[in-house]
Amino acid sequence: MSVLVYIENIDGHFKKSGLETLSYAKAVADQTGQPVAALSIGNVDRDTLETIGTYGIPKVIRVDKEQLKQFVNQAYATVIADVAKHVGAQTVVLSNSFSGKALAPRVAAKLHAALADGASSLPAIEGDVWQIRKTVFSSKAIAVEELTARTKVIALMPNTVEPSEAPTAVQIEDYEPNIEDTDFSTIVKDIVRATDKVALPDAEIVVSAGRGLKGPENWKIVEELAEVLGAATACSKPVSDAGWRPHAEHVGQTGLAISPKLYIAIGISGAIQHLAGVSSSKTIVVINKDPEAPFFKVADYGIVGDAFEIVPKLTEALKAYKN
Ligand code: FAD
Repeated sequence: MSVLVYIENIDGHFKKSGLETLSYAKAVADQTGQPVAALSIGNVDRDTLETIGTYGIPKVIRVDKEQLKQFVNQAYATVIADVAKHVGAQTVVLSNSFSGKALAPRVAAKLHAALADGASSLPAIEGDVWQIRKTVFSSKAIAVEELTARTKVIALMPNTVEPSEAPTAVQIEDYEPNIEDTDFSTIVKDIVRATDKVALPDAEIVVSAGRGLKGPENWKIVEELAEVLGAATACSKPVSDAGWRPHAEHVGQTGLAISPKLYIAIGISGAIQHLAGVSSSKTIVVINKDPEAPFFKVADYGIVGDAFEIVPKLTEALKAYKN
């Protein structure tokens, strides 16, 4: 029995959330005393694959086929389940990313496994019964799930563990998966990138703004602050509803739920529906001219004042600090 971790790549580069899954899988393997292997699907060069050893994973199964160049959820799920059987994995770990959310239930169904999606803790293990914490209801509550099936699939919430180094040599094994034409009933023909910025769900720092910014023409100050911090940008619902910002940036109960290390909220009141998607951020900074704004109740740091004065000063100060 072993632990298998599927590590996602974008254009041959591993995502940070993938490195987090490596460290998580290594920790699960240490807990259970089982060997651990990683699975890489698609075209990733040898040097990049060898970096997997940095996180204490001694073996990588490489599945590199032309058909799997683009992400296809049915086919990738079939490959992950096939490789899990090949290495005798009792536990499969992947990221609760956009693609991980599509893959995890499919892999669990194929392996007749218990599924913990959005997991935010290591398991508490008692024999075959594992308890895992996860955030639910847009991060408003924490649930403890009990996984009783022998085989388990765990989709780890991004930004809940730090990738930790435990360097080891890596053995790379090429594997020919058992996939059928029926696994390709949906084919990605083309991918058009909407932006080159950091993807919101993976971002460690998010600069977000609301109706307090008055109009889309004022977003320059938000983007400049985000740029100096290497952050992704987000917004409140009314802002995306009004077409000031793309819907992909809308966070909250009806938008994305995120948990960055730092969330900077500018001119956002802090309505409960907004907080539902951002309250599990590690540190929250609020900039609002109304000292009674509800967001201040959950803020770690608050600045009461006009965003149009404060944000450019903050950006300048950060630029000066970096130079
Ligand atoms: P406002 O409430 O208008 O707040 C603007 C803030 O900017 C105020 O606090 C004001 O003091 C401050 N401000 C104004 N000028 C300045 C200045 N110059 N400098 C600094 N501060 C300034 N909302 C979401 O965001 N996400 C969701 O997913 C979501 N889902 C919803 C689901 C449902 C079913 C419902 C009913 C609502 C939902 N909402 C959601 C809407 C939510 O209730 C709020 O209406 C919304 O979050 C308010 O957005 P806001 O804070 O940008 O705007």
